[in-house]
Amino acid sequence: MRTKFRGLMHREALLFEGENGWAEWSPFLEYEDDEARIWLQAAIDQGFGPKREVGEVKLNATLPAVNGEQIAQVLAMFPGMDTIKIKVAEKGQTIEQDLDRITTVRILKPEAKLRLDANGGYSVEQALRVAEEVGELDYFEQPCATIGELAELRARLHGATRIAADESVRKVEDPMAVVYAGAADVLVLKAQPLGGVTRALEIARECGLPVTVSSALETPIGIHAGLTFASALGGTTAHGLGTLFFFERADIFNNEVLASEERREWWLERLKRCFI
Ligand SMILES: [Mg+2]
Repeated sequence: MRTKFRGLMHREALLFEGENGWAEWSPFLEYEDDEARIWLQAAIDQGFGPKREVGEVKLNATLPAVNGEQIAQVLAMFPGMDTIKIKVAEKGQTIEQDLDRITTVRILKPEAKLRLDANGGYSVEQALRVAEEVGELDYFEQPCATIGELAELRARLHGATRIAADESVRKVEDPMAVVYAGAADVLVLKAQPLGGVTRALEIARECGLPVTVSSALETPIGIHAGLTFASALGGTTAHGLGTLFFFERADIFNNEVLASEERREWWLERLKRCFI
């Protein structure tokens, strides 16, 4: 990775060739087998499920919780993107730093649509303050951690800012819980954690809300699955699949990025446990 993202400096993935071409299985290393098994269903769906085409997909830029000169440097990695997602509520940072970052982006990219992503890091009161101070947003993604807090915030905002649910869709058994609770205007869906594109498309249709497709920091192979998902949804919204920009090296068919023998064994063991 070029900069630390989700606490990571490198990413590991198992890639295999299925009937449809290459497929990716890349649950994060700390995940238990139960969770990794759902991601494996996604990989199998990619390799052997319905074959899907990719059309034109618009992407958003993502700005990690950096400050100062780094903001312009990161934005320069996303030329031509007119929707910018700004990470806020990073541990160890203040709301003032978040507001400064947002102001800087507004100055640098006055035409851009802005999204904020707090990864559940704000209280309802903090999220309200930020929403009120920053002005118009495309949406505010996972401002608070729980579905109850999101519903409360959304009620108190009276439609002034759209709320998007990300972690609340991924980490609950029932992805529709957030919809029934009236906790979101937009859903952020990732294909791998939902068990693949086929399942994710069903959820997208069932929820009746606008959907933004986002990556789970996959290699180009997993990103391709995300692009087929976004293409099948149609529409013109920008999706969060531009994460290859965060890799120093994403040329996965180059031997230099092959895992060591030891890591390969670890993944094959994990695969044996999860493939049931
Ligand atoms: Mg998010």
